[in-house]
Amino acid sequence: MNLINSPDYEAGEDMDNAKKVPTVAIIGGGHNGLTCAAYLAKAGFEVSVFEKRDILGGLCVTEAPFSKAPGLKISSVASYYGMLRAEVVKELGLEKNGLRPYLSNPIEIVLLEKGQFVFTPRDQDGGEAQTKVDDLSEADQIGWQNFWTDIQKAAAIVYPYYLKPGLTQARLVDLLKEAGLNVLAERVFSASLFDLLDQYLKNDNLKAVAATCTPGFASTAGSVFGCIHHGTASTRGEFGAWGQVFGGMGEITAALADVALQNDARLYCDRPVQAIRIEKDKAVGLVFEDGEVADFDIIISALDPYVLFEKLLPAESLAKCAAITTHLSKHRPQVSAAKLHFLLKDLPSIETLTAIKHNHKGVIVIAPPKAAVEKAALQVPAGGMPNDLMLTMAFPTLEDPSMKGSEEDKRQVLTVDVHYLPARINGLAWQESDDQELLEATIAAIESQCPQIRDYILESYVVSPRALKERYNVESMSCWHLPMTPEYIFEKRSLPGCDHYETPFESLYLCSAGTYPGGNVTAAPGHNLAKKIIAKYQGNPTETESKDAPVLANSGVQL
Ligand SMILES: Cc1cc2nc3c(=O)[nH]c(=O)nc-3n(C[C@H](O)[C@H](O)[C@H](O)COP(=O)(O)OP(=O)(O)OC[C@H]3O[C@@H](n4cnc5c(N)ncnc54)[C@H](O)[C@@H]3O)c2cc1C
Repeated sequence: MNLINSPDYEAGEDMDNAKKVPTVAIIGGGHNGLTCAAYLAKAGFEVSVFEKRDILGGLCVTEAPFSKAPGLKISSVASYYGMLRAEVVKELGLEKNGLRPYLSNPIEIVLLEKGQFVFTPRDQDGGEAQTKVDDLSEADQIGWQNFWTDIQKAAAIVYPYYLKPGLTQARLVDLLKEAGLNVLAERVFSASLFDLLDQYLKNDNLKAVAATCTPGFASTAGSVFGCIHHGTASTRGEFGAWGQVFGGMGEITAALADVALQNDARLYCDRPVQAIRIEKDKAVGLVFEDGEVADFDIIISALDPYVLFEKLLPAESLAKCAAITTHLSKHRPQVSAAKLHFLLKDLPSIETLTAIKHNHKGVIVIAPPKAAVEKAALQVPAGGMPNDLMLTMAFPTLEDPSMKGSEEDKRQVLTVDVHYLPARINGLAWQESDDQELLEATIAAIESQCPQIRDYILESYVVSPRALKERYNVESMSCWHLPMTPEYIFEKRSLPGCDHYETPFESLYLCSAGTYPGGNVTAAPGHNLAKKIIAKYQGNPTETESKDAPVLANSGVQL
């Protein structure tokens, strides 16, 4: 067990009968578990966090996996900042505790087939906005701007509700209608992003660009909301803007852990929980993998719900949650994703970028054609590898040389998100050979835009669906523990028969990406549960001030 503080405490020890404040065990030291820990510890609860890995952060972590560059750091899984709620950053003082997000310039270039692209600088220092898209009409350009304006208006409507659990799908439809966004309201949960785009423009190449802005497939229902969800990002006060973090996403985790520690929370790594002890339908304690036991007044599962319901609950208590386990197994996520990191000997030239004097900073997206997305939407959930990969890439070491340790080091890291992959391949669990196939397919997809990439690669680090499950302990292999699709959004993100963050067992709560409002590094589930518990035990906590988000005229991918 790696104890980060409080060397006097031993799990299994009598937790002091004379305690004045409730003792809280949080299982899982991901960013949501740590957010909840920081808020509860600040409110005076006696908090212990137990993390299975030897490092805190879960999917929000900075690591140094390259044997050829031991000091070089990467954001191993989540790498883009923006979803983290500004209110949480302010209330917990995360920037005072070292968190430093930044905005890239340019913002993004989306590369399409046959040399087409859409390039979006942040301002003149990032270059000149350019678009090379076949068959682009003036009406398409106007439709494109209108589309993004509407998405950002919708994101601004949703934004305050992420820290106020209670928004329902029907209520969001009403709110969109009240704002005059009828086209969106009619399609937000029932139609696909491609269907919505049909209402604004005709050009399929632009639709392929938009497809990269939603999780999952732009051809399936729910992808409209996915696009709005991503539109709620906000970095350094710019609504709709995604950024990165100096030192990597693990700096979010480090700042959260610091706040928890400053308020006397105990944080334990290498401390896997094996089971939750339930007595008379009440959670009373934990059993650790080494057999030790400890009692707590409140137990919080900051885990993928599949870990909780398939691994940690004692068999005799499962009858009480049969409806939940049936629901989870019926809707088991079929779609996963991956992150690959390439240690490169130098900065390679991506042909289109070099041709337009792009500085290779910001986000570089490889967008498959619309028809390929439609095909993948059928292939992937059925267990097939997609023929064309959708990739989001960046060179974090180019923007933040502190990730390398030395500015003189010419080596760079190319970080690549592979958007959609099967969670199981043709019904079978991912194997090491499948990781190898993914690596090859990813390199081949990059070669289409950067033919010499293979010669630059010194080492690779692959976070495949297999690694998500085996290395990062995400049993569902879903980026959001549960998909961000209509069967899991808002009121449907609570467990069947339970209120948000609650379980059928007294004193057992949930807070992770699988709870309201959903996935990404938002800290919202951790914040919301902490406020709920503080209200229950101490009366109403200070309300988090959640102002309506401003709408920026230049949000979205610009033409
Ligand atoms: C490939 C990929 C890329 C992504 N990119 C981004 C991005 O760029 N930006 C963004 O905002 N979001 C991104 N996401 C989504 C985001 O990372 C997650 O939604 C979010 O980090 C989940 O946080 P969490 O705290 O809820 O859960 P987790 O981070 O999964 O934390 C759960 C913790 O529980 C621990 N645990 C599991 N079992 C046990 C046990 N038995 N005992 C003790 N501890 C246990 C785990 O080790 C883990 O540390 C990405 C996700 C993926 C998969």
